[in-house]
Amino acid sequence: MNFAQFPRRKYIHTPTPIEPMPALSKRLGKDVTLYVKRDDLLPGAGGGNKTRKLEFCMADALEKGADTIITCGAIQSNHCRLTLSWAVKEGLDCHLILEERVKGAYDPDASGNNFLYQLMGVKSIEVVPGGTDMMAAMEKKAVELSGEGQKPYMIPVGASNAIGALGYAACAMETMVQLNDMHLDIDHMVIPSGSAGTHSGLVVGMTGMDSGIPVSGINVSRDKQAQEEIVYKLARETAGKLGITKKIFRDTVVCFDQYVGPGYSIPTDAMVEAVKLFAQTESILLDPVYSGKTAAGLIDLIRKDHFPPGAKVLFLHTGGSPALYAYMDTFRK
Ligand SMILES: *Cc1c(COP(=O)(O)O)cnc(C)c1O
Repeated sequence: MNFAQFPRRKYIHTPTPIEPMPALSKRLGKDVTLYVKRDDLLPGAGGGNKTRKLEFCMADALEKGADTIITCGAIQSNHCRLTLSWAVKEGLDCHLILEERVKGAYDPDASGNNFLYQLMGVKSIEVVPGGTDMMAAMEKKAVELSGEGQKPYMIPVGASNAIGALGYAACAMETMVQLNDMHLDIDHMVIPSGSAGTHSGLVVGMTGMDSGIPVSGINVSRDKQAQEEIVYKLARETAGKLGITKKIFRDTVVCFDQYVGPGYSIPTDAMVEAVKLFAQTESILLDPVYSGKTAAGLIDLIRKDHFPPGAKVLFLHTGGSPALYAYMDTFRK
């Protein structure tokens, strides 16, 4: 897997840590040993997984001569926060289109990522109703900015195209080098599956290296069938771009959809329990929308003896803790 063939801004200079979670493993009381890969500690204001994808997307934007970035996401989007963060570092303007997926949920004075958009000097925020064609909304903005003489570049939701997903194929390689250095034989990896770039990239990278480590995605919005199709399609595109000759088999893409609850970003009791458990056993801050629900899935799978006795399971912590401060009431209840 040759990542040097693509334009890439090197934002990440050291691998994120892989740490054991002994207190959490003990608390769950099963014969499963848990580890965590700390992508919450990636650089970029507030940390989190989008930085891996943005190494490739921002480089592509710069190579194409862009001076302005347009991207989109939900109203408390970690992706929007991190895209803005790297745009600031690169000296580019950044405009955000935010989808109000829960009607009436947008509050311009809200804390969390919303506050950070303002703090880092976002050029504009446009809030559109749930279900809006986000690509079309970004294109409209791009036409408007081009008319003003700017050179806009659009990054899709979550930076989840074949360019961005390269970042997580590269993460698979980083992870395997670390596990070999640590002489740690992981049996299973559990990750969040949202806009799908993280999941697709990891499947491609793990397949490309013949790692033999199965990856399970915990959905945060869609049902199993729909999400697996999206991940599989993007994985094939990414593998093609990277030039991987190994076939990506459909059955290597596995999603669990029973931890979404009533819908994207809507809290569940299991998420609240998982966030508290991680905080109170390992001093690790999860988030309500992604890593909290993924951890709820991980915990439930362990309690249900989904993993064989003695299994070593690696949880990918994708970050998102700045969003906690927009959900304080949920955790104080
Ligand atoms: C975006 C995000 C995810 C999901 O990653 P995708 O590549 O969109 O599937 C998971 N966790 C956090 C904290 C995120 O911001």
